Amino acid sequence: MEKSQSLAAILKGPKNLCLEMRDIPDPGKNEVLVEVKACAICGSDFHLIDGHTKRARLPVVPGHELMGKVVDVGKNVSKDIIGNRFCIENHVACGECRYCKANRENLCNNSRSIGTTIDGGYSQHVIAPANKLVPIPDKLDDATASVMQTLATGYHVVNNRANLKKNETAAIIGVGPIGLCTLACAKQIGARVIVIDTVEDRLSLAKKMGADETINALEVDPVEKVKTLTDGEGAEVSFEIVGGNQSKTIQQSIDMLCKGGRTVIVGVSGIDIPIDFQPIQHLEKVIIGSRGHPYSFMPCIEHVVSGNLNISEMITHQIPLSMVEEGIKMMRERKDGAVKVVLIPNE
Ligand SMILES: [Zn+2]
Ligand SMILES: [Zn+2]
Repeated sequence: MEKSQSLAAILKGPKNLCLEMRDIPDPGKNEVLVEVKACAICGSDFHLIDGHTKRARLPVVPGHELMGKVVDVGKNVSKDIIGNRFCIENHVACGECRYCKANRENLCNNSRSIGTTIDGGYSQHVIAPANKLVPIPDKLDDATASVMQTLATGYHVVNNRANLKKNETAAIIGVGPIGLCTLACAKQIGARVIVIDTVEDRLSLAKKMGADETINALEVDPVEKVKTLTDGEGAEVSFEIVGGNQSKTIQQSIDMLCKGGRTVIVGVSGIDIPIDFQPIQHLEKVIIGSRGHPYSFMPCIEHVVSGNLNISEMITHQIPLSMVEEGIKMMRERKDGAVKVVLIPNE
């Protein structure tokens, strides 16, 4: 019997992304087949495509910020969900290890990752575990739903890691998409937010999305400026969300804190960076890591639908899957004001 086929962008090796027709896969036990409606391109996809993601298993279809419509179900999954739209949580934890049992599934010992170790959303169809589906209300459009993963990352950073509170001052270094989502979540709980970047376009977008103050780090010393804006004391919380060179920004994120302040490191560069640990001891400053977006899709969807969180300014482009290479280029080069480029694989 001939199987029907659909389009997918398959990463076969570093910088070798191939658009191909391939057989539509069958859902196995506890799995569903999803027609991908929207998949946002993410900065971390560039690391994967360039060959810098160690845990990747090639060949693989990239794309971990995805949503779509269930079109078939495997064994043990109710047919009632066929036709419904869902976000797909890309991080697939085992549910059994000590971390999963302690409600820290983002630290799971045996996790798999859609779009990195198993096929993702740069594709017209994808297989997903049924327990990773998050229902989407009608009010939420496809493109916005695909960006819930980025928003959930910012939500986890602000609410679960920094434990940011109303009226605290937070400084965000780096407003790429995760930085902008962190800004949106920090404003949602009523914090005062100072945003630092080196790109003027991004600073004005941050302003539109609610930043109280913006600092261009090419023009002024961001540490001094944050202190001036906080009566000489520093911010209670800082977020380091720099995607590229962090050689200065990690130390800055510590130095711009008030005594007892906390910094959350979200950016990843993988290089060795010397840090002055004296303020950690002497001034009781705290360095916190943040990984992923555990248990954060649902609250984000609720906040967006109720109008408490708005990230629509961030979604700058929607393009067909056949234009995936152009989309990646646009985001890498920040061409045409590109912030979030969303693939629409089934038009
Ligand atoms: Zn991502
Ligand atoms: Zn686990």
